[in-house]
Amino acid sequence: MYIGIDLGGTKTEVILINKNGDEIERLRKKTPKNYNGTIDTICELINLVENKHEKNCKIGLGTPGALSKETQCIKGGNSTWLNGRPLKNDLELRLNRKILLENDANCFALSEAFDGAGFDQEIVFGVILGTGVGGGLVINKKIINGFNNITGEWGHNQMPQGTNDKWNIHECYCGKKGCIETYLSGPGFSNHFFDQYKIRLDAEQIQKNANDGDEKSLEFIFQYLDYLARGLSQVINIVDPGAIVLGGGVSNMKQIYGNINSKLKKYVFSDTVNTKILKNKFGDSSGVRGAASLNR
Ligand SMILES: [Zn+2]
Repeated sequence: MYIGIDLGGTKTEVILINKNGDEIERLRKKTPKNYNGTIDTICELINLVENKHEKNCKIGLGTPGALSKETQCIKGGNSTWLNGRPLKNDLELRLNRKILLENDANCFALSEAFDGAGFDQEIVFGVILGTGVGGGLVINKKIINGFNNITGEWGHNQMPQGTNDKWNIHECYCGKKGCIETYLSGPGFSNHFFDQYKIRLDAEQIQKNANDGDEKSLEFIFQYLDYLARGLSQVINIVDPGAIVLGGGVSNMKQIYGNINSKLKKYVFSDTVNTKILKNKFGDSSGVRGAASLNR
């Protein structure tokens, strides 16, 4: 059987699945905000699962950031206590076996490509529209990492500009201006709503207001869809996936799914755009299921 671990900034979750993808066990604990505590927590959760079910399972771990090819240490994670630490090697020493480690957006993409919303497509691009904007590319159920280990990081491309843009250009934490993430993330959505209406609401509240019939919020969501289409058109023009599966809080916006393809037509270099833009199947479980699927 296969163990997956989703190492989040606030919680660490472990799942046990069989080869058909059926969930056998799931446990979670708070993530300690220090390196040794994080290692202890992961090992403790694995021991609990293996003592109850089966020893020596294959283990996959999803983490923020990625492993540096030079140092084999974690880089670029927002759980900063992991950065610069040899997490994979240390866990392998403690667990006495090889494990697989992947970026959490890649795990999301793999889960949805394996047996989720994009299961019937050869090329699946998984998109996170959450606190940040990330992505992962899966071809024939294999994650594509790329030469620099950054495949799928479309969130830090520049947003293509239009002629009558209402939205301001914001600075990104990565040091550039106008990154796609500063438009399409939950905080980006909220910041631009504030620019326009001088009302500070989070993305979830704006979606709720739109669903309750607030016209201003609904109109704003349609502006957002235009920016989403611009961002995704860059992905489609380059990798042309059969399905793009959306995850993260903003993916709950129900207006996306019926309207995005007609907007994509404005920006994609093709007379027809039949790319399936899909809501994820496994919700918050996609990360941990994808980690378990690394070994499937
Ligand atoms: Zn950026």
